Amino acid sequence: MDAISETYKLIDKYSIHARKRFGQNFLTDPHVLDKIIDAAGVSKEDFVLEIGPGLGTMTRVLAERAGRVLAVEIDYDLVDILEREIVPLYDNLEIIEGDILKQDVRAIADEYNNGRPIKVVANLPYYITTPIIMELLEKCSGLSSSNCESVKAENTHSDDIVNSSRIIESITVMVQKEVADRMLAAPGDKNCGAITYAINYYSKPYLAANVPPNCFKPRPKVHSSVIRLDILEESPVKTSDETLMFKLIRAAFSQRRKTLLNAISNSAELDLSKSEVSNALTEAGLDPAVRGEKLTLSDFSNLSEILRNF
Ligand code: SAM
Repeated sequence: MDAISETYKLIDKYSIHARKRFGQNFLTDPHVLDKIIDAAGVSKEDFVLEIGPGLGTMTRVLAERAGRVLAVEIDYDLVDILEREIVPLYDNLEIIEGDILKQDVRAIADEYNNGRPIKVVANLPYYITTPIIMELLEKCSGLSSSNCESVKAENTHSDDIVNSSRIIESITVMVQKEVADRMLAAPGDKNCGAITYAINYYSKPYLAANVPPNCFKPRPKVHSSVIRLDILEESPVKTSDETLMFKLIRAAFSQRRKTLLNAISNSAELDLSKSEVSNALTEAGLDPAVRGEKLTLSDFSNLSEILRNF
């Protein structure tokens, strides 16, 4: 069965017009489909959560390769088509109608996969790429608790790092190329952003493919990339206050032309005076005139350790 031809048949049969407000660009290139599925490395051992199955192009291949697939789709009309045309073909596939940002992914992993880590695969709707990735990383990596535990363990002279409540093993997604470039940048590169630090804190990112606009119907205005994020069981830096560390990172990049001193002391998310920030930067061995993009993840974690005691 050719998933792309089946998708074209459904487009004709149901006179589908892609809905811009849901970021619908249906994949129509078989080689790109293969690349995403290969990059995800799905096998019968895996439970896969697909975000935005659309007309089920990738869903069909996933259901053939994976042990079990759950797909979350926001568009009621597409859910109806999937329930009629695709769900009956597979006994390991379920569709949930809803917004992925409102799903409890941890509860899904518990219910469908006995709490074992799951794989996420998606051709993401581009209007909410960053919120989806951040939500998955923050809520599902399990690093917050493991970091706290590892810091506690250090305080009790134990080298054991307690891990892990990670519930996602990997995230393989199609995103805008510009966002992929930010995700794949090294901290300190010119195109790094707040998301670069989150990606590097929670995962190891890989580029699987670059994809031109003519591989979709309708064609998006931007180029795309497939990336795979392997979720880490241990973060590369330790912090006892992950929330503060990410507030500092967001402050540094929300006003990236400002010096770090001004960006952090002006941040509405942080209640810190200029002299407190200046003292902390000096204690961390950082020049107050430096810009956030020059800092490594470890610089931000050191700074958060110093500032949490202020
Ligand atoms: N997977 C299909 C493919 O590759 O052809 C469709 C990909 S299309 C880029 C994005 C899909 O995500 C659409 O089906 C859209 O309706 C769905 N979607 C948009 N926002 C969503 C949300 N918040 N939660 C779940 N699905 C969403």
